[in-house]
Amino acid sequence: MSNSKQHYDIVIAGGGMIGTSLALALAPLGLAVAVVEAVPRVAAAQPSFDDRSTALSRSTQRMFEAMDLWPGIVAASTPIRSIHVSDQGRFGFSHIEAEEQGVEALGYVVINRVLGSVLQEALESLDCVDVICPASIVDVDLAPECATAIVENADGLRHTLTCDLLVASDGANSAVREMMGITARKSDYGQRAVIGNLLPEKDIDNTAYERFTEQGPLAVLPVADDRAGFIWTVSEEDAERVMALDDDAFLAELQEQFGFRLGAFSKVGKRASYPLILSKALRLTATRSVLIGNSAHGLHPVSAQGFNLGMRDVAAIVDCISDSVAGTESDLGNRFLLEQYSRWRRSDQKKLVRFTDSLVKLFGSRRRPLRVLRNIGMLGFDFVPGVRSTFARHTMGLAGRLPRLSRGVPIK
Ligand SMILES: Cc1cc2nc3c(=O)[nH]c(=O)nc-3n(C[C@H](O)[C@H](O)[C@H](O)COP(=O)(O)OP(=O)(O)OC[C@H]3O[C@@H](n4cnc5c(N)ncnc54)[C@H](O)[C@@H]3O)c2cc1C
Repeated sequence: MSNSKQHYDIVIAGGGMIGTSLALALAPLGLAVAVVEAVPRVAAAQPSFDDRSTALSRSTQRMFEAMDLWPGIVAASTPIRSIHVSDQGRFGFSHIEAEEQGVEALGYVVINRVLGSVLQEALESLDCVDVICPASIVDVDLAPECATAIVENADGLRHTLTCDLLVASDGANSAVREMMGITARKSDYGQRAVIGNLLPEKDIDNTAYERFTEQGPLAVLPVADDRAGFIWTVSEEDAERVMALDDDAFLAELQEQFGFRLGAFSKVGKRASYPLILSKALRLTATRSVLIGNSAHGLHPVSAQGFNLGMRDVAAIVDCISDSVAGTESDLGNRFLLEQYSRWRRSDQKKLVRFTDSLVKLFGSRRRPLRVLRNIGMLGFDFVPGVRSTFARHTMGLAGRLPRLSRGVPIK
């Protein structure tokens, strides 16, 4: 281990979608920030900036607008102008229109790798952020006077970083969360998400489809070049078989689940699969440290909310840090800041975890009482005034008290 120690105001553990966004959001404050990331962005094994498509909510859009990054992102994204929700084996469906909500788009779909290149380019232009990659945080010491992170590079060499505030954004299996002494409660859905893209026969017309099937939800999203991205939830036992199917057999099964609303599917691209596990950290802070993004909460992708929820963590911690910098408290690891962040984020996170989990259970159940409730729910969804609008506001990330960036207000 080298003896050199480098001090930063903030060290961010994990430079994936959320950690990178945080580093960019902090830029106007001119703080000394280090991002430690284990896997280079362009590597095939990069777990965050991969081939998935992410639906960005309104509040995430507003954030990127306030951070001056939106023109680059929107140029690489596809707008969602309507959401179509249906239940396999039942007639009828619900839908939400952007126009009816008074917005230009309900959200935008971007491929994670593409988002990564826009964010990375912006990060490289910042003098106040050091990106240390490939390197992992392998140990931390959280003392009242400062936080210390031991960083190991790809050659096994170690060096020490100290900081006022350590932010863990190292994903759902966060090792840094464990180093902080915080337990996460996990519950395995026994499902995997199989993702990829395909060519539908009919124009998808900027519509996002969410279809609840016997196996679990299936989402089909508009992406670039007339293609559609899919996220197909299959049971853990069936995942291996589905992944091993040849392209024609795979498309035939997917088509059977989705139906022919978009005509015949063809030209399926490379497939990948992800385990689906709900995880909730029991606390959001420890001495001089906080959790954001998936290290704090890992959701089922059914409502396309994980990244968007993580972006609201980013907006909230940046608000707290900005207030601290503007006030008399220059120590960014102060207890007031940690408590303010924790109080602020708990209820949004809890609400969304509950909402997403209930959606999976309600629509995934074969039990009769739940199926009846579900039918009433689908009706209520379309016909009870306000219900659809409330759902839309959650989906767009506009419910509850929003931090400055989530409202589109620049931090400085
Ligand atoms: C199939 C699927 C579809 C999804 N679709 C959507 C969607 O449409 N909308 C939406 O809002 N959300 C969606 N999500 C959720 C979203 O992908 C996640 O919420 C988001 O990726 C979380 O980002 P993160 O940066 O917190 O964690 P991650 O993406 O897991 O990134 C963690 C980063 O930390 C690095 N790292 C790990 N350990 C260390 C260490 N010790 N030291 C240094 N670096 C480390 C990793 O290499 C990685 O780059 C989806 C998820 C899945 C599985």
